[in-house]
Amino acid sequence: MALTLPAHLDPLTDRIHGSGLLHELAHGLRGPFHYLLPERFDANLAAFRAALADAEVEGRVYYAKKSNKASVFVERCAAVGAGVDVASLGELRDALGHGVRGEDLVVTGPAKSEQLLRVAAQQGALIAVDALDELERLLGLGGNRPVRVLLRRYPPAQPRSRFGLNDAQLHQALERCVAAGDTVRMEGLSFHLSGYAIQPRADLAGELVELCLKARSSGLRADRISIGGGFPVDYVAADAWDAFLAEQGPGHYHGERSFAAGDFYPYHSPAAGADALRAILSASPGGTGPNLAERLRQAGVMLLLEPGRALLDRAGSSVFPVQGVKDRSGYGIITVDGTSLSLSEQWFNSEYLPDPVLLRDRTGGTDHTDRPYPACVGGTSCLDSDLLTWRKIAFPARPRVGDLLVYPNTAGYQMDSNESPFHELPLPPKVVVDHHGDRPRWHLDR
Ligand SMILES: *Cc1c(COP(=O)(O)O)cnc(C)c1O
Repeated sequence: MALTLPAHLDPLTDRIHGSGLLHELAHGLRGPFHYLLPERFDANLAAFRAALADAEVEGRVYYAKKSNKASVFVERCAAVGAGVDVASLGELRDALGHGVRGEDLVVTGPAKSEQLLRVAAQQGALIAVDALDELERLLGLGGNRPVRVLLRRYPPAQPRSRFGLNDAQLHQALERCVAAGDTVRMEGLSFHLSGYAIQPRADLAGELVELCLKARSSGLRADRISIGGGFPVDYVAADAWDAFLAEQGPGHYHGERSFAAGDFYPYHSPAAGADALRAILSASPGGTGPNLAERLRQAGVMLLLEPGRALLDRAGSSVFPVQGVKDRSGYGIITVDGTSLSLSEQWFNSEYLPDPVLLRDRTGGTDHTDRPYPACVGGTSCLDSDLLTWRKIAFPARPRVGDLLVYPNTAGYQMDSNESPFHELPLPPKVVVDHHGDRPRWHLDR
């Protein structure tokens, strides 16, 4: 039996899928493509801002640009005055070029290049310093104005992290900032945790608030902390997810491949996106005393966040034309025009689990013999490992050449982080879809 794991119902994408637009685009673009829904990005950003406002916490949202390469999301940030988190010179250039002001950028990432540091300092961006030698290289790059820095904290609860400054290094960095006087403006501290747990974020944030207070006593500004990203996205319903985890085994995958439950992204989260921020703000650091929101207010510390995936929730999907279908014993192998590089989860030795939706080519007419058809999904490359989905998906009918497979909700990391022109295949274009009244319109993302 094939297990199903449908994405949450989404009336807006249903409407687009029913409009014939995607077949039209597949015809026009001659291959796979992604579509983007910037209105969803706007709504997610507004929800994060509302969570801050409701908790009466002064804060700023920086969109973590690495989660999608499209321009349209950065343009939305520029339009509504949100910040952008960049980690390379290319990302920084792109953000500036789309109208985000230098002072609205936060620059993260380990051991940043000389050139990235120089441009970031010249543009007045906030730079999260990851190591002492980086701080040293940075001092003096600001010209006649101070370099704005955050000191990134090594997370003691995640001892395998390669990021941040440990206790001793942090102590040294603070002394260095004091000694550097007007050449540096130490604005606060930062962290980014892997995983999605709420309490560790509140705990470390609480610690950073205390560190800010200490830093201030030696004359540093220290009036903000960044808690990074890692706000989960809720892709599927709780019961479907629980049933999937309980039942899935090698028999559900092509090649009897086995995945441990822990290999998967947590596709269901009870508190996702802005609700996760609300939960973090109402948790008490260390488990007792005033909650984080209260601590921030008391200490006069501003909260910065850098969500990537959560700002892109339901803001785009990936569309692959079916190029061939063949039968194996008990299931089928669908080959789509496209590769697993456009669905990056395979890069992490894992699967993108929300079920792809089959959009039939209407010109073929309906087939009354349609019967459920389990099939895995392969890409067009010559690699045996190039599967978009190893799992045998329960398709409602045997797909036909010309049908489309739509992988839902792929904008956060799935879409383009790993795409390459492998086999000289062109990269799938990205199509921005908005609505003019009831009518969906589109343009290419540039
Ligand atoms: C990747 C990253 C983020 C974004 O993480 P999400 O899980 O997409 O929210 C934020 N900050 C830093 C420093 C990162 O490396």
